[in-house]
Amino acid sequence: MDKRLEKYAKLLITVGINVQPGQTLVINCPVDRADFARLLVSEAYKVGARDVVMRWNDQFISRETVLHGADEIFDTFYPWQADMLNDLAHRGAAFLSIDCSDPDGMKGIDHSRMVRQSRAFGPAIQEFREMQMSDKVQWCVAALPHPAWAKKMFPDLADAEAMEKLTEAIYATMRITADNDPVEAWRAHNEALNTRKRKLTEYNFKSLHYTNSLGTDLIIELPEGHYWEGGSSASAKGVVFNANMPTEEIFTAPRRDGVNGRVVSTKPFDVGGEIIDKFAFTFENGKIVSVETDDPHHKELLEAEISLDEGAAYLGEVALVPFDSPISNMDALFYNTLFDENASCHLAFGASYPTVKGGAEMTKDERLKLGLNDSITHEDFMVGSPDLTILGTTHDGKEIPIFINGNFAF
Ligand code: ZN
Ligand code: ZN
Repeated sequence: MDKRLEKYAKLLITVGINVQPGQTLVINCPVDRADFARLLVSEAYKVGARDVVMRWNDQFISRETVLHGADEIFDTFYPWQADMLNDLAHRGAAFLSIDCSDPDGMKGIDHSRMVRQSRAFGPAIQEFREMQMSDKVQWCVAALPHPAWAKKMFPDLADAEAMEKLTEAIYATMRITADNDPVEAWRAHNEALNTRKRKLTEYNFKSLHYTNSLGTDLIIELPEGHYWEGGSSASAKGVVFNANMPTEEIFTAPRRDGVNGRVVSTKPFDVGGEIIDKFAFTFENGKIVSVETDDPHHKELLEAEISLDEGAAYLGEVALVPFDSPISNMDALFYNTLFDENASCHLAFGASYPTVKGGAEMTKDERLKLGLNDSITHEDFMVGSPDLTILGTTHDGKEIPIFINGNFAF
């Protein structure tokens, strides 16, 4: 076996989720990669995990369910499924998810069934989601290569070569080589991200102004007391973990009612397996008031996404990623948000992370008052381009360049 796979498992257990002695670990993993799940379980027990709760999944079965399940099942759910997640979160479990799927695996199915399912189930796991979004519990999402995913990324290569290329790309983004210590590499990376987020937080910007030649001209106000997050975070118990691996972004929350102008997407956006190449949103007082696409079907899909609930039509995340960064420099489209969001500045519509001072302890109403968005959804879309300019305006009216030509100005 490739030694790097063992290093990967160890990295996810120690740096990604950082499971603590006596703690329960919940692992979401596709059945196809039981080999990797076993490595994770062994590593978890090595560092003293109390127990591991496995949640196996399978894309084929998910697809069959959406295609052939009785129509009524999409408006309801088994209460124990929600209880399980809420209960595990309250018990202080850590949640590790492994994504290994075909980006087109859910293509051509009735998307409205999935929308109804999220609408029914989303509110029932509000407690779990809330604890995860506010980093009260440790959580981590990472990915493994999948043959169909590799083929989609590299359609001109033979199957084995495509898979090899995707595997190498994933190891590179995870900073794993045959002879390094990736745990050490991630310590240094997290420290570099920390320095930058401290600097941005100190500026305490009132608003950000995005412009580029594609037609983006957008002003995003930031809430009082906001801070910038990125790289590692600390749970309620002070355990440091990396919620996304890889990660290159630094992010904060916008004021939900303070977004005005138009933004043009710069990378494809995936709606349940349908890839939308390009779109634009126009905002008025925070709300998306118009969706532009070339294809009327894609417009419908996007409009359904931003109508999941009230907050779905408002922004919940502002993230900065230099155009000149490791994933961006690969110049490959991953068709997977976990990677593509780390190649580009992005925004998300839907729920925000409570990145304001004391935010994790606030009630939902208190957060709303400060301008943080709430929703059952959170979807990143990419807006970075090589000519993107972002100007920050401070509360005393100073204008500070944050991004010039797609990269950090400081
Ligand atoms: Zn992000
Ligand atoms: Zn996001």
